[in-house]
Amino acid sequence: MEDDCIFCKIIKGEIPSTKVYEDDNVVAFKDLQPIAPIHDLVIPKKHVQDITGVDDPEMLANLLHGVKEVAKAEGMDEKGFRLITNVGEDAGQAVMHLHIHVVGGAKLPTR
Ligand code: AMP
Ligand code: ZN
Repeated sequence: MEDDCIFCKIIKGEIPSTKVYEDDNVVAFKDLQPIAPIHDLVIPKKHVQDITGVDDPEMLANLLHGVKEVAKAEGMDEKGFRLITNVGEDAGQAVMHLHIHVVGGAKLPTR
């Protein structure tokens, strides 16, 4: 846990969020500024900045398992959805706690 990380605060319940899925390893909640009808973020409960800082591959497996559960919970598993994870400055990563955007609920632009 990092004291001034907003996603760590969401995990601890110090900042409100609309949770859509949680298990021992990950939490998923609604993005505050959705770019599509459904836009959730899946994050590991352990603080790590981005995928380059992950040393246990199981964390990545746990995140993708969370993605699958979120897609099911949101009813996106039939029609499809998109994953995005922004890494670092060039990608415009704004929150420095690893997160996977799960976006869907509409036909998404291909470019
Ligand atoms: P990124 O550019 O990949 O770092 O995206 C960070 C995302 O976190 C953005 O889509 C924000 O809308 C979202 N976000 C920031 N603060 C919160 C919050 N308190 N609850 C939910 N989503 C948030
Ligand atoms: Zn954090």
